[in-house]
Amino acid sequence: MARTAVRKQSRKNANKAKPAKSTAAKKAAKKSAGKAKKAAPAKARGSAVKLHPGIDNGFPKAGKRGFAGGRLVCNCATDPVVVEVKSQTAHNHACGCTKCWKPEGAILSIVAVAPSDKVSVLKNGQKLKVVDPDAVILRHACTGCGVHLYGPVERDGHPFKGLTFVHTELSKESGWSPPGFAAFVSSVIEGGVPPSRMPAIRKRLKDLGLEPYDCLNPALMDYLATAAARKAGTLHEE
Ligand SMILES: [Zn+2]
Ligand SMILES: [Zn+2]
Repeated sequence: MARTAVRKQSRKNANKAKPAKSTAAKKAAKKSAGKAKKAAPAKARGSAVKLHPGIDNGFPKAGKRGFAGGRLVCNCATDPVVVEVKSQTAHNHACGCTKCWKPEGAILSIVAVAPSDKVSVLKNGQKLKVVDPDAVILRHACTGCGVHLYGPVERDGHPFKGLTFVHTELSKESGWSPPGFAAFVSSVIEGGVPPSRMPAIRKRLKDLGLEPYDCLNPALMDYLATAAARKAGTLHEE
């Protein structure tokens, strides 16, 4: 049931994607792909699939010990929105869904969670607007630059209630937990990526140590299924 719910959510994501945005992203991706081809030596051609600037050139394998959080700042040149996260993040991952914010030209987003009570808006919160009030994740986007600053889950009974989704690439601090897997990878097709590119994308993710999944990873899927089983009264523990 949880699995179906997640899949449904993914489809819902796709249905609500804005075509204008995805066209712009496609254009940017095409542009950067073209540039990369020209600059790369013949041997390296086609070897570097660009997924997200935060992982394309490698990334730390672990967060900094004792890291206690930092500030997320949007892309506005003036009066940027500033959000404080007073904890390390968990479950950081690459996400292929069409709803998570990603920088221009990126195929995947990088998104993690923090306890909602550790996340607060410090500056210019008046610029924030919830992208889709019906979504499980209430993504708060800056109306000036489009960046998503934070996305709490507040729905009663949802296993993720109390968690807030954040993009730690918006922070200058280093030491955040690095991504550990890739979720909803097949959904990048719904975002405009040609299906023929999927094998190369999955291979690149594996090479980066980010196991690609088409829902969430087994740990989180088990967590959701456990919550669903508990609700249904079918949970059996040994
Ligand atoms: Zn902004
Ligand atoms: Zn996503």
